[in-house]
Amino acid sequence: MSDSSRSLAAGSPPQPATGLVLRPAFKSRPSGVVVEAFERHVRETGCPETFDRISTTRPPPTGGLAVLTEFHAQKGKRPRGDFAPCPICSPDSPQFLHGLLIWCEATSAIYAIGMDCGHTLDREGRLDRALSVYNRQEARRRLEDQLLEQLPLVPRMRRWIAAHMPVAEAADRLSHGFRRRAPLVYKVVKQAFDRNGELPVRQPEGEQPPAEPIRLVGPSFVKTSFGAEVRLKRTDELLLALDNGEDELECIEAIGRMPEVQLVKALKFLKTAEREVAKVFEYLADCADFVSPENMARLAQWSERPGTPFRLMAYAERSRVKVFMYRDKSDWGDTLDGMSTPEAPPPL
Ligand SMILES: [Zn+2]
Repeated sequence: MSDSSRSLAAGSPPQPATGLVLRPAFKSRPSGVVVEAFERHVRETGCPETFDRISTTRPPPTGGLAVLTEFHAQKGKRPRGDFAPCPICSPDSPQFLHGLLIWCEATSAIYAIGMDCGHTLDREGRLDRALSVYNRQEARRRLEDQLLEQLPLVPRMRRWIAAHMPVAEAADRLSHGFRRRAPLVYKVVKQAFDRNGELPVRQPEGEQPPAEPIRLVGPSFVKTSFGAEVRLKRTDELLLALDNGEDELECIEAIGRMPEVQLVKALKFLKTAEREVAKVFEYLADCADFVSPENMARLAQWSERPGTPFRLMAYAERSRVKVFMYRDKSDWGDTLDGMSTPEAPPPL
C-alpha cells in the first residue's frame, strides 16, 4: 500500500522488477482439479500467492471473467503471520485473507484477489456478475451434494415400507376392530393413555394400602383413524419417483438432470417421507405392544380388581387376540396374522 506508486506507474503490463509473474496457463476455464489443488494449497500454507500456477500481476481490465472459488487463508499458517498480497490493490504488501480465485480469459491466467477488490477491476460490474453466477452454481452444488447423500438410500427405505405393509394392514385392522367391537373398553383404555397408560383404580372404603397402579403400553393403538397402510402407500409413491437405485453414479446422473426447483422439492419430499415413516414405525410398535400377551394380561388383571367398572377376559395367544366383556357382550377378537414388532426404519 505504501508502495502503490510503483504499481500505479507500472499500469497493466507486468513489470519484471516487481517480481510479479504472469502465467498464461489456462486458455479455457480451469477444471475442478486445478481449483481443488489451489484450495488444498491455501489450506496448507495460507499463501494463495505461492500456488504454482497462479499469476500475481494485475488482472486485465477487459475480457471474460469467472469466479472459481471463494477462500479464507489462515494468517497463522503464513510464514510471517501476515495477510496475503492482492494483485489489484496491493501486489507486494499484505492486504487480505478472505478472497476469490478468478480466471481471466484475456490473459489466460488465474488470480487470487481480495474479496472486495473486484469492483475496481472495471466499471462494468464484470466481477459482480461472475460472482453471482458463482453463488448460484454453489447453491445448486450444495443442493446436489445434500441430495446425493440421501438418494441412494431410497431403495432401502422402500424395502422397509414393503416389508412393513402387512404389519400396517394388521395394525389398522386390529385398532379399528377394537374401537368398534369393544367400545366401552376402548373408552377406558383411551382415558388410561391420557394418564400415561394408568388404568383407573377406585379404592374401596377403608382398604389400604392402595394397590399398585396397572399401566398399559402402546398408546397409539387407540389413536383414531391413523391409517398406517395408507400412509405407507402414499410415502412409497413419493419415493418411487425418486428411486434411481442404490448405485451412486446413477444417482449423480439423475440429480444432474433435475432443474433446481426439482432438487429443492426432492429434498422436501425425502424429509416428509422420513418423518412419515417414523410416525408409522412408532404406531406399529405401539400396536404390537398393545396386543402383546403381557398387555392383555394387564387388562385382565385390572378387571379382577375390586371397584373396576366391568369384568372382562383379555388374552393374546396362539396368534389370536381377544377382549370379551361379560356383562356388556362386547366381544372383540381377531387373528394376529401379519402383526409383528416392527424393525426400526433405515435413515433417509
Ligand atoms: Zn485488493
